[in-house]
Amino acid sequence: MPYNLDVVIPCYNEEEALPVTLPRILSYLEGLQSDPRFALRHWRVILVDDGSRDRTWTIIEDHGKAERVVGVKLSRNFGHQNAMLAGLTYASADAVITMDCDLQDDINTIEAMLLSYQSGFDLALGVRSSRASDTFFKKGTARLYYSLLTLFGVNIIEDHADYRLMSQRALRALLAHHEVNLFLRGIIPAIGFKTSIIPYVRQARELGCSKYTLGKMLSLAIDGITSFSVLPLRMIALFGIVVFLVSSITGLWVLVERFVHSASVVSGWASTMLPLLALGGLQILSIGILGEYIGKIYLETKRRPRFIVETTTDQTR
Ligand code: UDP
Ligand code: MG
Repeated sequence: MPYNLDVVIPCYNEEEALPVTLPRILSYLEGLQSDPRFALRHWRVILVDDGSRDRTWTIIEDHGKAERVVGVKLSRNFGHQNAMLAGLTYASADAVITMDCDLQDDINTIEAMLLSYQSGFDLALGVRSSRASDTFFKKGTARLYYSLLTLFGVNIIEDHADYRLMSQRALRALLAHHEVNLFLRGIIPAIGFKTSIIPYVRQARELGCSKYTLGKMLSLAIDGITSFSVLPLRMIALFGIVVFLVSSITGLWVLVERFVHSASVVSGWASTMLPLLALGGLQILSIGILGEYIGKIYLETKRRPRFIVETTTDQTR
C-alpha cells in the first residue's frame, strides 16, 4: 500500500545547521522514494521556526518555495515540545516522523522506521543505544532523571527522546491529549498501539550549538517556571527542602548532644526539639509539593494556546 510521509522538524536559532542539514534531509528522502523497498508515494518536510532570532526563518522560506517543504513560523519561542506539536497539527500524511534539525539522530534510522511501519507497527521509537557522545554532565543528569521518573512510577521509554514515527491514528490519539504542559514522550507509551523500538547511535552536534541550555532543560523539566504566579509556590517547595535538610542535620546534632554530652542538656529537650524540627521541615516541604500541583491545575484551567502560528509558507492553508 503506497503511503505519504510528513517529517516534522522544530528549529530554534539554527542558521548554522539548517543550510547544511536540510539539503541532506531532502536528498535522503528523495532517495527513499526511489528505493523499491519503500512504498513511499509522497513526502513533505514540515519545518517549524520556534521564534528564532537569527536567519532561520529566511532559510526556511527560501526552501519553502519548493513544494516539498512547508514552513510554519511561531509568534515567539514556545519551546521544543510545543514547536513539535505545532508541526504535528500541520501533518496530514499516513505516517509522520519527528526529528531534530541538527541530524544528531542518525537519519538512516528512518529506513528501519518505515519498514516497521510497513509491517504494521503504529509507533516506531528511536532509542539511543549509546550515550558516548554525551557530556559527563548530561549522562549523569539523564540517569538521575530516569531513576526519579521510575521512582514516581512514570512509564517512560528510557533513552527515547523525540525521534519517532507515528501512524496517522497514533498521531490522532496523541493530539487528543489537550493538556497545556504536554510531555510528549510521557504520552507515547500511554496511547498504546503496536510499538517497535529502533536502536540507533546518536552523534555529537556538528553544526551550531545545543539550543537546550541548562536553564532551558531545567524549565522544561519543571514546567510552568515562566509563570509568575506559580513561581512563589515553587519557592515554598525549595525553601521547604532547605529547611528540611537543615532540620535533619540539626536533629542529628540534637541526638549527639543528648547521648554523648547528656550532662549539659535539660531533660526533655531532645524529645521536644526532634519532632519540632522534623515536622516543621516536612510540613513546609509538603505545602510546597501541594503548591506545585495546584499551580499546575491553575495553568491547565486557563487553557492557553500551546503555540501561536504567525505565518506559514503553505499557500493552501
Ligand atoms: N528547539 C526548539 N525550540 C527550543 C529549543 C530547541 O525548537 O526552544 C529545537 C532545536 O532547533 C533542535 C531540537 O529542538 O532542532 C533539539 O534541540 P537541540 O539539538 O539544541 O537539543 P539537544 O540535542 O542538545 O538535546
Ligand atoms: Mg541536538
